Amino acid sequence: MIFTETRGNDGKHQARLSFSGALQSPIASFGGIYSPESMPPLDPDFLGAHLDSSYKKLALALLQHLGIDIDTQVLRQALDLYDRFDDATDPVPVVKLDQKLYVSELYHGPTRAFKDMALQPFGLILSALAQQQQKQYLILTATSGDTGPAALETFRNRANIRVACLYPDGGTSDVQRLQMVTEDAPNIKVIGIRGNFDDAQSALKSLLSSKTFNQRLCALKISLSAANSVNFGRIIFQMIYQFHCYLALVRQQAITLGEGIVLHIPSGNFGNALGAYYAHRLGLPITKIAIASNANNVLTEWIQTGRYDLSHRALITTTSPAMDILKSSNVERVLFDLFGATRTRELMQQLDELGWYQLEPQEHEQVTGIFAADFCSDSEGKEYIRQTFAQGYLLDPHTATCLKTCQSEPFMDQVNLIYSTAEWTKFASVMDNAINGNEPDSDQAALESVATAAGIEVPEVIAQLFEKPIAHPDVVDKQDIESEILKFLESER
Ligand SMILES: *Cc1c(COP(=O)(O)O)cnc(C)c1O
Repeated sequence: MIFTETRGNDGKHQARLSFSGALQSPIASFGGIYSPESMPPLDPDFLGAHLDSSYKKLALALLQHLGIDIDTQVLRQALDLYDRFDDATDPVPVVKLDQKLYVSELYHGPTRAFKDMALQPFGLILSALAQQQQKQYLILTATSGDTGPAALETFRNRANIRVACLYPDGGTSDVQRLQMVTEDAPNIKVIGIRGNFDDAQSALKSLLSSKTFNQRLCALKISLSAANSVNFGRIIFQMIYQFHCYLALVRQQAITLGEGIVLHIPSGNFGNALGAYYAHRLGLPITKIAIASNANNVLTEWIQTGRYDLSHRALITTTSPAMDILKSSNVERVLFDLFGATRTRELMQQLDELGWYQLEPQEHEQVTGIFAADFCSDSEGKEYIRQTFAQGYLLDPHTATCLKTCQSEPFMDQVNLIYSTAEWTKFASVMDNAINGNEPDSDQAALESVATAAGIEVPEVIAQLFEKPIAHPDVVDKQDIESEILKFLESER
């Protein structure tokens, strides 16, 4: 598989890279990213041949089909990490919710959110590449709650990698914060920032462009890398479960082999949706990919009208914080795949300069050929959580937005598959409010209250977080981040 630049080449970056190259340096010319040059269609017999394959066997076959330049032995080790999910024989259960309505539970990994699906294998592969090349990497990440825990969990104690993770103090759920600050390993540093997620992200950006910081990194022989979802090393592992879930529906006799299904995806940075798009390009029978958003409905507008418009928007804080995003990075890869590099560069430049772009009618038609979209307010989401709970199922606030896209008339007589991106435990206060009408003053109280209402125990991995010692107590002002991180890098040697 060859990767090329979404906005063309400026003579300073590599025009083409292998998978391992794109994984190590995802940023390309003119602010673009690396994206597959083409998608090799699968053999028509592929699905039928893998009807009874395990998750790992299916994954290896797909990765080999895509032709990625990672040693098979390393790939096998990376895929073995799915054995740490709740059920090693079925890491992604597909559950029937209603007639023609199924949920694919992507959250059975160590940090209870779908970020584990990709970050678990990604962490092992990046560490293996760093060791082969005798390089040291620093992963810098700013998180609003789910990426941080999943990145720390995958990189903890991995050779040749260090992680510094910034989170907004008071801007995550208690469970998410505890997942980070109790993570005790010598190659990890977690820092709370006085401010919101935007402050954390802009602090990270100014760090990346700081001359003193980069000089110190150079002197310490440490390279920077990124673990966010523009990194194709994450996207590739988000293509696999699309096939697994389709085959699970065939095994459950919900569909026959070859029958089309509708996917419903709670979206933010569009990584999950991009995985579905590529799966469709490889030949998986998907009739529509429905993009669910919250009140930050920039993707709904883009898909419904062809206009991507930030100019009239400010970020709104919602009860589905992992989807509180306006600049959805992976949309660029869809533009590139459909319209090529010249047009993508033109559109993305216009977005940077004017804050909006408008697709031509025939371009918009290509987008709506595969994507549909709707958005869900917090109060609608709460109602969906309440109704679904009454049917005996706990739906987290992100996943709940998909019940809105499911209302669309044309989807009624098809089989609909919702991707569930988080376990309810990560957003217990929202759940307690939706289900019991409470205004809990802590996540711990909310967890107990929801568990009691559901007649279950609070899962052990979550309950024990409240007992663990805090390994990273630091909360600092923005201007002190650079010195905190340098102290960490220098102390560890
Ligand atoms: C990251 C995340 C999303 C959004 O996924 P994208 O791939 O960025 O679109 C949705 N829900 C949860 C719980 C997440 O953690």
